[in-house]
This record gives sequence, structure tokens and C-alpha cells, in this order.
Amino acid sequence: MPTQAEIGEILAGIFPADAILTTREDLVPYSFDGTAVLQQMPAAVVFAKRVDEVSRLLEAANRHDLVIVPRGSGTGLSGGSIPLQESVVLCLTHMNSILEVDARNLTLLAEAGATTLDIALAAERAGLFYPPDPGSMKISTIGGNVAENSGGLRGLKYGVTRDYVMGLEVVLPSGEVIFTGNKCVKDVAGYSLRDLFIGSEGTLGIVTKVLLSLIPKPPAGKTLLAIFDRMQDAANTVSAIIAAKIIPCTLEFLDHVTINCVEDYAAIGLPREAAAVLLMETDGHPAAVEEEASRMAQIARDLHARDVRVAETADDAMRLASARRAAFSSLARIAPTTILEDATVPRSELAEMVEHIQQIAEKYRLKVGTFGHMGDGNLHPTFLTNEKDADEMHRVELAMKEIFDRALALGGTITGEHGVGLAKKPFLPGAVGELNLEVMKQIKRSFDPKGILNPGKIF
Ligand SMILES: Cc1cc2nc3c(=O)[nH]c(=O)nc-3n(C[C@H](O)[C@H](O)[C@H](O)COP(=O)(O)OP(=O)(O)OC[C@H]3O[C@@H](n4cnc5c(N)ncnc54)[C@H](O)[C@@H]3O)c2cc1C
Repeated sequence: MPTQAEIGEILAGIFPADAILTTREDLVPYSFDGTAVLQQMPAAVVFAKRVDEVSRLLEAANRHDLVIVPRGSGTGLSGGSIPLQESVVLCLTHMNSILEVDARNLTLLAEAGATTLDIALAAERAGLFYPPDPGSMKISTIGGNVAENSGGLRGLKYGVTRDYVMGLEVVLPSGEVIFTGNKCVKDVAGYSLRDLFIGSEGTLGIVTKVLLSLIPKPPAGKTLLAIFDRMQDAANTVSAIIAAKIIPCTLEFLDHVTINCVEDYAAIGLPREAAAVLLMETDGHPAAVEEEASRMAQIARDLHARDVRVAETADDAMRLASARRAAFSSLARIAPTTILEDATVPRSELAEMVEHIQQIAEKYRLKVGTFGHMGDGNLHPTFLTNEKDADEMHRVELAMKEIFDRALALGGTITGEHGVGLAKKPFLPGAVGELNLEVMKQIKRSFDPKGILNPGKIF
């Protein structure tokens, strides 16, 4: 492992001086990401502007046993971009150009540091649509989205990042640059390396360009908010909507604790005593949208929704949707430490899982607000806690383990969209089993035999 002075020399041979950070005060913002509690200072941070800089850095890292930690905007919620001691953080945010929108093939080519929002807006300007919309989309990068295979509020109907990635330019740990994929709708030539890099959390290669598929923009949409006195009724409504063969683009929920935090923060007019609200959005042909919206409203009423509000204008729709979009920020104001979890179960087990989370919170005397992508079975139990209170943190750990154990027992998983990173590492063997884990480790070793790229993450 090179010394601090040697690291400085290596970096100076590749990057201009203004692309290298080494002072303590400059490094602090890169010592953590969106994950609570985790923090580690790196030796340096560099901002790449061109793929050849990334390539030369990895080639040098291999030669000098230097650890490189890729980073987009640092909004990750599993600690994937937390540095290691003496590592160099490679930040991709300066490689942020949208290079091409190809309206004939319905594709968009962007550098990895472009924000998800810039991609959505570039698609929209061409009359097209890029559906994945993580809650962090204003700042998260497309490279980070690919590395985590991020989801969003429209995942139920439109899928997640993986469903839109057609090709990737990747710098391998050796420094070699490959492009995997193309603009063809169909391609089965060899293993899909592209799919291997998606969700690999920056452990197999550095994504430098992303080729995305776009779809025509749905001409109409409708937003509804249903209010329930019992969580069970909200969960039953989700199951009934899906059983009625309606696939809305959004089926999101907030529980009682979250409703009150959102009201304190954004004063949207949600009833504070409600047990749950369900945000439902449908889009597509105007006639289909009208029909689906009225069927969903009826299903919710039949299943005891106390009230169903239907947005009449675009502003109204935005206001109702902001109840869900504000959930995480609203919860984060309540306590010094916010730990957002990501337990996911088959949709049929949703109501049971939500109930378990509430029981587990009570058992360990913890404040937990739960919201999430109910249509996907992807729940975000959010611990509102204080990392300085050792006793409470111990109870958080026990509760978290119990939540994951319960999700697995119900046929679910430990993470639906935030990745394993550092935070979920202890739970991965239980989720995938020893043999799967060993195959994953072999893949990592074959790409990165010296372990210079984001080591210690996932495994
Ligand atoms: C308020 C908030 C809301 C969120 N909502 C959602 C949501 O709805 N759905 C969801 O799925 N997630 C959500 N997230 C989590 C997070 O935003 C996503 O995981 C996002 O994709 C991370 O992007 P980033 O650019 O910030 O990546 P970072 O946090 O910087 O990095 C994430 C991981 O990707 C790797 N990485 C980054 N760039 C590259 C690259 N170019 N090549 C290779 N590896 C790379 C890093 O090493 C790390 O392992 C949310 C986070 C916050 C704070």
C-alpha cells in the first residue's frame, strides 16, 4: 500500500491539481454517504473528467496496490461509497454530459455522472420518457443508479434501472475499457456482462457511460390519495388492485408515524389520526386512465378507505404526490440519526410484514416510521434514533435483525433497492446462502484479483 506522499505523486501524474483534494476539511464531505452512522476518511478524492483518466488511475492502482472507491453523489443508503482508510475516492460527478438522444432508436447516451433528473428532462424535451425515479433523482447520478440498480416510485409498472440499461462503458479494475451492449432491442451474443455490472455496487468496474432505452411519454395521468383507519385495509387495497389486473404506475404508502412527520414538515392536509395513506397514480391513454382511476377509487372505498381524494389539476396531483416524496426528509427531522431500511417481501405478505414491523418496534421500544413502495412489496421501516445512545443503538440492531429474519421467512429479501454495501453485509449469507455467496466472490476475484476496487463492500 503506497504512503500518502506516494498517493499524491500517483494522482498528480494523472489529474490536474484542481481535480485532487487532500486536505482534511476538503475530504470530510466524502467520508460518508446517505447511510447513518458510517464514516471513514479517505487519503484523497479525485474528480475524473475523461475516461482515459479513470483508466490510467485503475491501471496505476493495480500496479501500486492502491484502493479505489467509486462515488457518484453519495446518496447511497447502504454505505457503498464509504471510503476505506488510505483509499482514493474517484468521484464521477464531473463526467455529467448527456451525449446523445436518439429519437429513431429511442435511446439516450450519458456520462455516468449525469443526474437522474437531467436524464429525465433530456428525455422529456424529446417527447420521451425515462421512468426510473428514485426519491433522490434530483442529485443521484445515473452511474450510482446503475451500480445499485435503483428503483423508484414508478417501479410497479415500469420496472427499475436495469430494465432501461442497453449498454455500458466500463473501466475494468485492470484499467482496460470495454463497452458492453448496444442499441439493438435483441442481443444474445455471449454472457450479458452489462447485466453483471448492474447492481454490482462499484465492485467489478467503473461505469463511465450509460446507454439507456426511453419510451413514449404517456399522454395522460391521474393521481389519487386514499386514507385508511387500518393499515390492513391499505394493504388489502393494494392486493385487490393487483388482483383486478390493474397495474398503476405508483402504489406508495405512508404509515401513521410518517403521516404525522409529513404534516409537521409540509402541511399537506393529511388527517393526523389516519393509520395509513395510499398514493395511487395511473398513466397511459386518457380513457384507460379514467377507467383505472375510478376502479381503484372504488376498490379502496370497498375496502373501507375513509376518504379518496382525486387530483383535479396538475398542481393538485403534485401536492398529493409530495406527501410521499417528502416522507424521508420529514422523518429525518425528528431524531439525530435516521436509519432507513429496505426490507422487501412478496406482495401477498405485505400486510403481515407491516404488522411485524410495528410489533418489533414496540418490543424494542423504538420509534419507527414506515413508508415505501407498497405495490412492489418494498418497505422502508425508518428508525428515528440517536447514534450516541448506545443502549438504543443496541436495540435498533436487534430490531433490524428481527425485521430481516422475518422478511426472509416470508420469502422476501434484505434489500429491494439500496444494495448491500457495508450496511447489509452481515445479512447477505442468510439471504442468498453459502454457495451463491461463493459464486459471487469468484466473480469478484476474476474481475479484480488484487481487490483494488471498492473492497470490503457486499462481502
Ligand atoms: C432522500 C433519498 C431518497 C432515495 N430514494 C431512493 C429510491 O427511491 N430508490 C432507490 O433505489 N434508492 C433511493 N435512494 C438511494 C440512492 O439515492 C441510490 O442508491 C442512488 O442510485 C445512488 O446514486 P449516487 O450517485 O448518489 O451513488 P453513490 O451513493 O455515490 O454510490 C452508490 C454506489 O454506487 C457505486 N458507484 C457510484 N458511481 C459509480 C460508477 N460510475 N461506477 C461504478 N460504481 C459506482 C459506489 O461505489 C457505491 O457503491 C435514496 C437516497 C436518498 C438520500
